[in-house]
Amino acid sequence: MEPHLRRPTRRACERCGRVERWDDDVATWRIASEDGEKQVGSPYCIHEWDINGRFAPFEEAV
Ligand SMILES: [Zn+2]
Repeated sequence: MEPHLRRPTRRACERCGRVERWDDDVATWRIASEDGEKQVGSPYCIHEWDINGRFAPFEEAV
């Protein structure tokens, strides 16, 4: 049985506050909306995504 692969579905930039969500339908990141406002952050930012280092490729057995 293959281990269930876990992918991040949300990432946030630690610098400008941009938030993106993974869209499985188009297999790409899309800008997330929160409270009806798109979390675009800064277009000039070199985004520093907060999923780096914390993302575990496999689900831990609970
Ligand atoms: Zn950013």
